[in-house]
Amino acid sequence: MTLQLGGIRMRLWLATALPAMVVIALLVIGVASMYGDRMAGALRDRGIASARQLGSAAEFMVFAGDHEGLVRLAESAMRSDAQLRGVRVYNAQGQVRASAGQVKDRLPVFDGTLQVLMHDRLVVVQPLYPSAVPIEDPYGPQAPAIDEQPHGQRGRLLGYAVLEMSLDALAQQRHDLLVWTLWTAAGGLLLAGLLASLIAAMITSQIARINRVVERVGQGQLGARADVNASGILGPLAQGINAMIARIAVTQEELQQQIDQATQELRAQKDAAEQAARTDALTGVASRRAFSEAAEAEMQRALRYRTELSLLMMDLDHFKAVNDTHGHVTGDAVLVSFAQTVVQQVRKVDLVARLGGEEFVVLLPNITAEQSTALAERIRLAFANSHLQVDGRPLHFTVSIGVAQFDPRELTLNGWLARADAALYRAKALGRNRVVLEGQGLDEAASP
Ligand code: GH3
Ligand code: MG
Ligand code: MG
Repeated sequence: MTLQLGGIRMRLWLATALPAMVVIALLVIGVASMYGDRMAGALRDRGIASARQLGSAAEFMVFAGDHEGLVRLAESAMRSDAQLRGVRVYNAQGQVRASAGQVKDRLPVFDGTLQVLMHDRLVVVQPLYPSAVPIEDPYGPQAPAIDEQPHGQRGRLLGYAVLEMSLDALAQQRHDLLVWTLWTAAGGLLLAGLLASLIAAMITSQIARINRVVERVGQGQLGARADVNASGILGPLAQGINAMIARIAVTQEELQQQIDQATQELRAQKDAAEQAARTDALTGVASRRAFSEAAEAEMQRALRYRTELSLLMMDLDHFKAVNDTHGHVTGDAVLVSFAQTVVQQVRKVDLVARLGGEEFVVLLPNITAEQSTALAERIRLAFANSHLQVDGRPLHFTVSIGVAQFDPRELTLNGWLARADAALYRAKALGRNRVVLEGQGLDEAASP
């Protein structure tokens, strides 16, 4: 199963970027609304201050009925503030005394109190009361503003000063603030996103690096190691994985050693078993199986190169009697002694084998019938002249030998063996302790 690095990177990005984005958004909204309210409050304060200034200037003129003075005052007030849209002065009965600019007709109800309205424009209605300035000390501390005086001390209402201010500048300021906050938020979000991408990419690349090592180990490359220094905060994980791989490598090596050792032992056992199967345990000469294989191979060779190939079939004479008279152990010793005698007489290329019981064969390559018969004769004589010490007495034994030459027309080993056996049978029939070449001695065999 492959690691979904894209999914991991996305989740890491979200986990890193989301909190930062939420904080930035909340900060921007908070700052925008706070400054928006403050800007509106400042405009409102300015409107009230202007209306109060206009009111205190108009107060005497309203009282004195100075119409022209009021008009001049209204016009100069209009010129003093670019945001002023209209200025009017009313008498106490609500009749217009002076007007400059445009004041909307729908005005609040005059009830003798300061009124501030903010819809599409800022409208301030400032009631005019006579100021209570102490005559004795005109330069003393200023009298409190009319609307700050307790109600009972205000005196007779003289009229109203009304001014209207445009909210365009406020709207522009708010718009500017909005644009600024949006740009700031966008910048902040972009920065947060970039930082989050950077962190996510860094961690996923470290995970990917470790993952590649794990994959290589999965494919059997136990030499693979994670780079601990390049793994950053995942360094301990890389270290742990390296330790694990090293442990696996050691375990695998140990297992391999055990397997190699077991294989070697098995091979040695198999070789020993094969060797045992090819060797006769008692005499040390070749077994029937080893003889069969060698004989087949030599027959093929003789066929191909048209060479001579001879076979001696040998059987100890009256061996049953040896066993019966001297015991099985002596019988075995006789078998071993015979095998040694034969091996001493034959060439290196000849193969001596025990077919079973007290029956032996010799396979003789590149030898004529006469030569092999002569060799058989030497074996017979050597064995007959040898003796074995049994119970302090020398014992003599004899062997009968049949000789058969390989015939290219006859393709089976059994046929050849049968011919050698027939010659041996004739040797036995002729009185034992002799050599008979196949086809010879028929006359003697027939006679008693
Ligand atoms: P012949 O001259 O006609 O060959 O007489 P023989 O007694 O040798 O004939 P036979 O084949 O009847 O006897 C073979 C005997 O060889 C029988 C068995 O007791 C003995 N024998 C076979 N294998 C072994 C062996 O491994 N060890 C011993 N001690 N005797 C064996
Ligand atoms: Mg026999
Ligand atoms: Mg015998």
